[in-house]
Amino acid sequence: MTLHHLTLIMGCVAALAAIAPASAEEARPDGKWSIALHGGAGTLTRARMTPEKEAEYRASLQAALDAGAKVLREGGTAMDAVTATITVLEDDPKFNAGRGAVYTWEGTNEMDASIMDGTNRAAGAVAGVGDVRHPILLARAVMEHSPHVFLSGKGAEQFAAEQGLEIVPPEWFATEERKKQLEKLKKEHLSALDVEFKFGTVGAVAMDQSGHLAAGTSTGGMTGKRWGRIGDSPVIGAGTWADDRACAVSATGWGEYFIRVGVAHEICDRMLLAGEDVQTAADKVIAEVGEMGGDGGVIVMSKDGEPVFAMNTPGMYRGRATSEGTNEVAIFSDEEPTKGD
Ligand code: ASP
Repeated sequence: MTLHHLTLIMGCVAALAAIAPASAEEARPDGKWSIALHGGAGTLTRARMTPEKEAEYRASLQAALDAGAKVLREGGTAMDAVTATITVLEDDPKFNAGRGAVYTWEGTNEMDASIMDGTNRAAGAVAGVGDVRHPILLARAVMEHSPHVFLSGKGAEQFAAEQGLEIVPPEWFATEERKKQLEKLKKEHLSALDVEFKFGTVGAVAMDQSGHLAAGTSTGGMTGKRWGRIGDSPVIGAGTWADDRACAVSATGWGEYFIRVGVAHEICDRMLLAGEDVQTAADKVIAEVGEMGGDGGVIVMSKDGEPVFAMNTPGMYRGRATSEGTNEVAIFSDEEPTKGD
């Protein structure tokens, strides 16, 4: 090979490097990635579960966790991992998101979702959508293809159709069990918690091999909701938050309290401004929700890829997987992983 050839080859290599997309970043040298998910918190006690039901829930959580972990293992982004996990849960009628969403007072299914990219704090959210199979993909489309952050109702549905997202008939979301919960709530003048025992919202947080964070949350809200009620799940800073400088959070619980505490943002702020570690910040903010009278839980991913849980309920459907070999799902608050240990 002549010097001329060598110069030519080196020139080509340099040119190729120059045209590589700006967003294609170096993976962390340790190739570290991490993901956590939840499928709602609440009065999840062993007495309420049959072994069969418990096994079904664990299998569903594992399937959703696997979908997100695969994306990260193969070098995909945290955003893609979060949407991969949440779309699996939205299609699963056991969870209160997408198919299997709870009923409004009027007997319809109206869904809320949000997503946030920790790289640049870009965010997208939707509220009160009824015909979009995957509300989380609509939230992401709002973030990526609209000049807005938050769309609602008919307008959001129109945007979904324009974006070519999958539109489904109302029957897609309908399930007998959820319908019965609404009927019981109305007949016996109960609250959503009396008929559901749990919040079934789904969410995921992830750190990819480039060290970027993302968080997403999707829900049908609370049974018997009226007057266009919107919970915390689509509210950026309450149900969802991601900031590469601190953490990524997805929450589930009594939305009104989570909004008032600004749960997801508050946890990351404590880490960023007060220097608290991820578990302390999560525990303190959930304690604050409890002091006000609310209940629920969070999954939090620290900027270093540590996935932790915090809840003030007897259980939370949850799971986490990391490049270091962690791969676990749990339901009850007294079983591992309870926290970040
Ligand atoms: N946080 C949701 C809401 O208030 C409910 C849930 O987590 O299941 O709409």
